[in-house]
Amino acid sequence: MSELYSSPLDELEDDYDTLIVGGGIVGAGIFRDLSLHGVKCLLIDKKDFTSQTSQSSSKMLHGGIRYLEKLNFDLVWEALHEKNLWLGLAPHLCYESPFYFPVFKGEERPLWMIKAGLSLYDFLSSYRNTPHKILSKKEALKAIPSLKEKGLRGAGVYYDAIVDDAKLTLEVIYDALKGHGQAFNHVEMNGLDINSGEILLRDCLNQQKTKKIKTKDIVVAVGPFTDILMGKILDWEPILAPSKGSHLWLKPKSLPIKDPLLLKTHDERVFFVIPWPNAILVGTTETKVEGELFDLKASPEEIDYLLNNIKKYFPEINLGKEDIISTFSGVRPLIKGESNGELGEIKREHKVYQPRHNIHVIAGGKYTTFRTMGQEISRKIVLKNHLPYNSNLTKKELRQTSIYKPFQKKSPTPEEVFQIIKREKVRTFEDLLLRRLGFPTPEHWTWDTSFEDFFRPLYPELKKLLFFSDSYSKYF
Ligand SMILES: Cc1cc2nc3c(=O)[nH]c(=O)nc-3n(C[C@H](O)[C@H](O)[C@H](O)COP(=O)(O)OP(=O)(O)OC[C@H]3O[C@@H](n4cnc5c(N)ncnc54)[C@H](O)[C@@H]3O)c2cc1C
Repeated sequence: MSELYSSPLDELEDDYDTLIVGGGIVGAGIFRDLSLHGVKCLLIDKKDFTSQTSQSSSKMLHGGIRYLEKLNFDLVWEALHEKNLWLGLAPHLCYESPFYFPVFKGEERPLWMIKAGLSLYDFLSSYRNTPHKILSKKEALKAIPSLKEKGLRGAGVYYDAIVDDAKLTLEVIYDALKGHGQAFNHVEMNGLDINSGEILLRDCLNQQKTKKIKTKDIVVAVGPFTDILMGKILDWEPILAPSKGSHLWLKPKSLPIKDPLLLKTHDERVFFVIPWPNAILVGTTETKVEGELFDLKASPEEIDYLLNNIKKYFPEINLGKEDIISTFSGVRPLIKGESNGELGEIKREHKVYQPRHNIHVIAGGKYTTFRTMGQEISRKIVLKNHLPYNSNLTKKELRQTSIYKPFQKKSPTPEEVFQIIKREKVRTFEDLLLRRLGFPTPEHWTWDTSFEDFFRPLYPELKKLLFFSDSYSKYF
């Protein structure tokens, strides 16, 4: 059998202490916590790790400035402390950046109120944030030269962090592999026999391959897919109000900005415009979503909504659809709770459920707070396994960094590409291109050699190792 068709299910044992279902940031965080504590655990994801919400965020580690308005101080405090922790622990994956918040005449919150809010934001970080600033109109225009001048009063400047969301999730998983964990992607939890405790796993790339395992505990950390999976295995009352958010990647020269901006939409939401090394990220939208939740695409309405809202701020720039390189979408796993159904009003906190003594379900929350979100579950499981729990154990540097680093300009050598495939759990060409090399689509390619010229010589060997979907076959 070629390596392509060998299944990770063949490497599985029959028993584990804990199965973690879902290799987004939340499952990855719990996996690392348990593994570092000595719990024998297994992480699986139906698709590639971090291929759903956790690669589709606005890519910020942040306190959430807008949650101040909702008086959600606990969440902001926790998120700011986690942001500042990761800036220290993983400086190769995230960096601090100023965010400019222009203020115009007639807006609900004048500059003095913005100043009060930003002072509170710095206070809630225990003054670990770089302190905010307030800019006059002249200073704001100097910092953002083509910003609309009419009605501009000035700008607030505060500091949050930009993160490579997919890479951080992957490196959290790689770190856990150095402990007591095993992790497999493209492996789905497909059923649970409540009486025997047997869990049915299926290799999604080799459809005929299945395996039954037993574990003492199951952690369900499948984010927006919680109701789908739980409805399949238990009597389950849906808990989520899934909310779709889309982003645009614009050509780097389409807007003359150096630093991220926080702007307001016509319907009083906030959105971000964030320059990255090779593109500008714009987002996000917020719409209810039902039915299929995997691999969603931005709709034409969402694209128009984002483009029209930016244009308002840059009236002299002729921004159009031709400036878009690509788009992406993710689903927020919002807990509907007592809300009135308004997505913007739903709190961003997480919740833990325990429908049976050995099934722990976690959903909601923010990317930024992943480490602390899962601790309630990890603590219970670690203690159940007669091990001492230390909530600071995960405040350690990640021990296996990616071979190809985020923000790295130089392309890897062919040898490095094959090393990545071997060491970083790559099973499809998309896993390699999107998450290990960091290109959202081939249109984002920036290396000196063209996409085709780089991969064509490697294709015969890659074909033996990786699954290729139809969308990539045209390139070879
Ligand atoms: C548009 C948008 C912007 C955001 N921006 C930010 C931000 O800037 N900063 C921030 O802190 N937060 C942000 N968030 C929130 C944050 O991204 C999410 O809270 C977080 O990524 C959710 O992670 P998760 O692990 O719960 O879910 P996911 O990342 O979706 O992971 C769940 C995983 O479960 C897997 N799965 C599903 N069913 C099964 C099964 N049966 N068997 C095995 N595996 C299964 C899926 O394949 C998936 O990989 C944003 C969210 C959205 C949607």
